[in-house]
Amino acid sequence: MASTPDGLPPLRDVVATHGLAPKKALGQNFLFDLNLTAKIARSAGPLEGFTVFEIGPGPGGLTRALLAQGATRVVAVERDPRCLPILAEISAHYPGRLEVVEGDALETDLAALAKGAPAKIVANLPYNVGTQLLINWLTADVDHPFWTSMTLMFQKEVGQRIVAVPGSNHYGRLGVLAGWLTHSEILFDVPPQAFTPPPKVTSSVVQLEPLEKRLPCHLARLERVTHAAFGQRRKMLRQSLKPLGGEALLERVGIEPTRRAETLSVAEFCVLAEAL
Ligand code: SAM
Repeated sequence: MASTPDGLPPLRDVVATHGLAPKKALGQNFLFDLNLTAKIARSAGPLEGFTVFEIGPGPGGLTRALLAQGATRVVAVERDPRCLPILAEISAHYPGRLEVVEGDALETDLAALAKGAPAKIVANLPYNVGTQLLINWLTADVDHPFWTSMTLMFQKEVGQRIVAVPGSNHYGRLGVLAGWLTHSEILFDVPPQAFTPPPKVTSSVVQLEPLEKRLPCHLARLERVTHAAFGQRRKMLRQSLKPLGGEALLERVGIEPTRRAETLSVAEFCVLAEAL
């Protein structure tokens, strides 16, 4: 068998030995290139002293990179039981540092698993649930996020929606939520050929860090406003926000009723939400 920097077998051999055929329904597009998984792990910054949550470790390429990079404790949440024997081998190679939680990440309370220790989330996310997972982590506790950074792979289009600024086509509810709570940026793109099997689209690694000071705003009200405004994004706000007070509400906060949702800054959305 070929050797690897961490002394564990190459990922292609691991997958072949364990007969882990990728399942589309589980969003299984695996990364076998250890240089790429190391690059993603490095992007997350120092890992010593942190609990690092990884969602969907699969055959463990990124998991191994996180451990090799010095993560004190990795907690990996995986839904596919076929991956567990592979992850057990990695755990034995790094005694006491890898915990595997078998289950659905959508139902897993990462904040509780962090037990108050500083935490980072680093993952090549299953695309079918990636956006919902991000929203769950962003909104778990907007005043006291349990994570100090998130380094996440999404489809490029989702990455563009997360970092979008007013006036861009990608700007919408996700951009407002992420912009209210975080500083976010796309670190780099990853082409389809880097994955096995290759997905149809390019992917992007996105980094999010909580803002030290966020604008005062009530989450549920902000979501009501952005839901109404972007639900009819081509319409003027006086029309799309009619159920919430329309023209009167807009005039009260000094926003021109003929503007459209995509022109409003995050701060303007917050002002609107607070005026509801
Ligand atoms: N981290 C591996 C890599 O980079 O090669 C695999 C990434 S693959 C894109 C997504 C992984 O998430 C798969 O291992 C899949 O089984 C797992 N998965 C899918 N849905 C999940 C869910 N709801 N909760 C936890 N894991 C899930």
